[in-house]
Amino acid sequence: MPTIFSKIVSGELPAYVVAESNDYLAFLDINPLAQGHVLVIPKIEVDYIFDVEDDVYAGLWLFAKIVAKGLGKAVPCTRVGIAVIGIEVPHTHIHLIPLNSVQDINF
Ligand code: 5GP
Repeated sequence: MPTIFSKIVSGELPAYVVAESNDYLAFLDINPLAQGHVLVIPKIEVDYIFDVEDDVYAGLWLFAKIVAKGLGKAVPCTRVGIAVIGIEVPHTHIHLIPLNSVQDINF
């Protein structure tokens, strides 16, 4: 059974894609914690981030870094916060959250 994120990768479900490479995808979170909240995923479906193969893991973080730099310029913010939670969707992902202060997020 593919995850919601695999369905986004395949185009079965819509998403607002902000960046894409052969192996990774970045798209807006459907329920953002702040304006411009982005999720960065490997296209390959692996539930737990620490089970991801080393090369995919390294590539994911490098891709997230590139997306974060662009995001920081595109959205007014002091910095782009980064988080790994992975409770709701069993498909490895990194949250990028543009922030101006801690009040921006409401965990
Ligand atoms: P986590 O798994 O890290 O706890 O959170 C999963 C994140 O995925 C949440 O921030 C949630 O809003 C987001 N999300 C869940 N379903 C969808 C969806 O169908 N589309 C998009 N763009 N984001 C989703």
